[in-house]
Amino acid sequence: MIMSSFETLTGLPDLIGFIFVFAFGAIVGSFLNVVIHRVPHELSIVFPNSACPKCQKPIQPYDNIPILSWLILGGKCRNCKEKISARYPAVELLNALLYLLVFWCVGFNPFLPVALIFVTTMVVLIFIDAEHMILPDVINYPLLVFALLVRLAFPLLGWEQYFTDLNFSPLVYLQDYPLWAVSLFGAVLGGLVGGGFLWLVGAVWKMLRGVDAMGLGDVKMMFAVGALLGWRLTFLSIFLGAFSGAVIGIFLIYTRKDKDLQTQIPFGIFLGIGSILALLFGESLIRWYIETFIP
Ligand SMILES: [Zn+2]
Repeated sequence: MIMSSFETLTGLPDLIGFIFVFAFGAIVGSFLNVVIHRVPHELSIVFPNSACPKCQKPIQPYDNIPILSWLILGGKCRNCKEKISARYPAVELLNALLYLLVFWCVGFNPFLPVALIFVTTMVVLIFIDAEHMILPDVINYPLLVFALLVRLAFPLLGWEQYFTDLNFSPLVYLQDYPLWAVSLFGAVLGGLVGGGFLWLVGAVWKMLRGVDAMGLGDVKMMFAVGALLGWRLTFLSIFLGAFSGAVIGIFLIYTRKDKDLQTQIPFGIFLGIGSILALLFGESLIRWYIETFIP
């Protein structure tokens, strides 16, 4: 039914929408490679153009087509034949597939760009955390500003139905206040739940074990995520993140024979995965859980 709305609104077949979203996702993914590579080194993401890391020859536009160029060139630089990491086309393909998934789940409506920007940001944080074990402020802070702006603007434009936390306690008791104010209050509450929960876990862990388990980056990331998703979906993000983290952690312990749990796992990866899942499937998951387990 979501697809028919694209057809109704644009007069174009659904397939065109899906092809466009996939291509757009791949192009954005290509830019994400630059962001993921340069932000941790505090380099400009605009200049200079991408170049081969070995021979320094700038990559020509015709060799910079997302996914396809890497396949055509057999994963090698055209000039010096240096191997180019498969991570580049993988990020492009992943982002393109995620855009398809978002389009399929969210549909063609005002929340679509918000969901796409959110998922894109999670992909960037996931890959930077995986490689450098950091979640940079230059990504966390703009995400928070973006979340607050969306939280403010959507009720003013009459699009408040995308924030389901407004219908539940405690926000539902604030009916005397203007909707934009309630929405902003919900953002702060979600931020405190997301950031506060992780801060608490880190503080308790430090008390018990005397080491920093959680970086401040995780706290800031989940404050920003919480501001957009609201407290309900934020709890779910952390739960899904911890669950996927535990599954993969156990897998790592068995495969790497790391019995002492010394492997440091960048938790931002799992928080990012949990947040994407909560954004796209959170409401359905909560509804399914209540219908199945609560009599
Ligand atoms: Zn080269």
